[in-house]
Amino acid sequence: MLSFDQVRDMLVSSDAESCERLRRAADDARKTCVGDEVHIRGLLEISNHCRRDCMYCGLRRGNKKVPRYRMSDEEIIDVAARLADSGIKTAVIQSGEDPALNIVRVCRLVERIKSSFDIAVTLSLGEYSREDYASMRSAGADRYLLRHETSDENLYAALHPDSSLANRLKCLEWIKDAGLQTGAGMMIGLPGQTIDSIANDILYLKSFGVHMAGIGPFIPDPDTPLGNAAAGDFDLAMRTLAVARLTMPHLLIPATTATGVLRHGGRARALQFGANVIMVNATPDSFRELYKIYPNKDRDEPYSEDPFKSARDMILSEGRIVSEGYGHSPIIFGTRNE
Ligand code: SF4
Repeated sequence: MLSFDQVRDMLVSSDAESCERLRRAADDARKTCVGDEVHIRGLLEISNHCRRDCMYCGLRRGNKKVPRYRMSDEEIIDVAARLADSGIKTAVIQSGEDPALNIVRVCRLVERIKSSFDIAVTLSLGEYSREDYASMRSAGADRYLLRHETSDENLYAALHPDSSLANRLKCLEWIKDAGLQTGAGMMIGLPGQTIDSIANDILYLKSFGVHMAGIGPFIPDPDTPLGNAAAGDFDLAMRTLAVARLTMPHLLIPATTATGVLRHGGRARALQFGANVIMVNATPDSFRELYKIYPNKDRDEPYSEDPFKSARDMILSEGRIVSEGYGHSPIIFGTRNE
């Protein structure tokens, strides 16, 4: 296992030659351990209501400028049907922490989707109780994403006035105990974040044994208290992806939307640094603009009649293979290619 100093050294080595060496090593590890396949996920943002006030997020309850919406069950099922028709094998159902998404409704939705379509379901709805996560799994949910954002307790407290790192990490334990493929992850370039803190994030992901890790740059939203902060460093975000791949070679790592917002073509670049998942926004147009966790969210995903075709074209242009499977974690499903 890589030591803290080794992880840190790779993160700080920012000259072009070191970066290219790191990129090649991560790309080789990705190819050897999880192959050339890239898994396309259809992202569905079902509600932008949120009870929390995270300092960096445009959906925070203190932001009165954003009109709020909730999709109905029927609207959600319609999108799931479209995903299944398009050959997409995973629906990622995401929301702010909306009190209306109680466990009964969440389970009913998951059961309907799983019984109607041949599709995996990833949930990303925030913090629930141990029992709730177990119920989601029983209802048929396959995966759960809950980014820890930072493993630095002081930084976490400064950014999350109404939640704690301890509870966040406890939720991740509960998710994993429930048998859900578990995704955590962090933002790169948060105000006050240090390289040491990012190195600790990577080591936390490794020691916890995550199945998926979402790693993307911080992007300031003007309607938040951090609106005037500088955006995260794209190249540092890429190095972090690469180090995550080298540290945890069998991980599912998305080329996050934020990488494409910060730099045109950023998601293709992330594929070169070890990523093997692409999220395509399938939220209906009438809601999409309102799910404003940060500005210009769709910049790297221009309007297209068939956004899945655009994603497939991008994958092929990178010399990769479009996965036709569910894209489950090889760590859980025992299909590791050592
Ligand atoms: S980061 Fe998540 S929990 Fe925090 S305000 Fe945004 S949507 Fe809500």
